[in-house]
Formats: sequence, structure tokens, C-alpha cells
Amino acid sequence: MTTVAERPAPAAGRPPVKGSIWTPDALAASGSAVRPGAPRVGVLALQGGVREHTEVLLGLGASVAYLRRPEDLAGPDGLRVDALVLPGGESSTIDRLLRVFGLFEPLRDAVAAGVPTLGTCAGLVLLARTVLDPAPGQRSLGVLDVDVRRNAFGSQVDSAEVDLDTTLGPARVAFIRAPRVERVGPGVEVIARRGDAVVGVRQGTMLGLSFHPELTREAPFHRALLAAAAR
Ligand code: GLN
Repeated sequence: MTTVAERPAPAAGRPPVKGSIWTPDALAASGSAVRPGAPRVGVLALQGGVREHTEVLLGLGASVAYLRRPEDLAGPDGLRVDALVLPGGESSTIDRLLRVFGLFEPLRDAVAAGVPTLGTCAGLVLLARTVLDPAPGQRSLGVLDVDVRRNAFGSQVDSAEVDLDTTLGPARVAFIRAPRVERVGPGVEVIARRGDAVVGVRQGTMLGLSFHPELTREAPFHRALLAAAAR
């Protein structure tokens, strides 16, 4: 395992994230930013909004490791992360890449085993038991007992920043080709609605959000993830 001390200082350019010598650029180059004692969050980094999640997590003092291969997730020493983030992007692409990189089953097993997980937008689609309006051949991890409809709020031009009241507090968040939760299983708590539509859910230590809190740097959901990881 690598430590901060073993890593070269990040290249000049973007200013460091507050309170950290790590920038997302340096992290992308090295694969992990380890702070001794801090929860280590594995961010799925195959496609999509990896950088913004990284910035929020580093801002909260977490360690971040990028997940691209099975060995980033687990090794002979066991699981290498305390929590997981599945970012937005395109769920059918992320699904395909998960299978190409051999990460589909290991990731599913880690989430199912109770590693605290935050999935945003495409990440929520990936977690869902059932995907409505899937791309041809699209699969999901099936670990979160909800049905989600892809692109339920319209296309890219219908993107919107919205003020939401959530059970974790108010948050201004972004909807971009967002899915909507159309069925909620008995063990699933609704944590956010947009009008009548369910857009945020929690099942155990799994959080699934239709929207992007990271684009507006809203931290309550990441904070909840880190709190679950610390337990
Ligand atoms: N519509 C995309 C999908 O189905 C999700 C969009 C997003 O993550 N912003 O994966």
C-alpha cells in the first residue's frame, strides 16, 4: 500500500484541494491519496464524474483510491476500501467497462457484503435491482431493491439545478439525464423527492441518488457515507 510520504508532490498547476496536498490530477496519475487513519473511499474510475467526487471526498478529509481493476478493490489482504462511490456518467458504458475489466462481480459482492456505497445518477442505475428503459444488453449490480427508469427527467437540454429538501438536509443539486426511482422495496427508505418523484433512497449503508450533489459541491451525502464507513 502506498502512503503520502512515498508519493512525489503533485505537479504545479491546479491549486491543491483545501487541506490536502492531493489534487485530482495528482490522484489520477498515482491512483490513490492515502491519509493515515482516514476512511479510504474507492471511487469507480472507469468513466464519468470522478473528479468532482474526488474533490468533495478530499475536502472532507477522506483517503481516495481509484478503482479500475479487481486488485484495486481487494487483494490477498482482503478489501482495500472502507466505502465506495459509483459516479454518474453513462450507466450502460460503465456496465460494459465493469465487465471488460473483470470488476462487475467483485464490485457487486463488495456492495452486497455491506461496504457503504454512494451511487449518483448512473451510479444509482448500476446499483438498482431493475433498470427500466435500459440500453440493449445493459445489466445492473442488482443490489439495491429499487426499480429505476433511465433518463426519466428528459435529455441533456432538460438538465437543471434544483433545491431539494432531503432527510440529510437541504441541498442544491444537478439533474442531468437523471433516472427516477419508480419502485421502492420494503427495506428502502426514501430520502429525497423532486415533486412526486423519488430521487434519493437509502438501504442499509447504500445511498442511491438520481442527481449529482458533487457538481454543486454539496457534501451531506458524502459525509453520511464517511460516517457509515467509520462505524
Ligand atoms: N442517463 C445516464 C444513464 O443512464 C445517467 C446520466 C448521469 O449519470 N448524469 O446512465
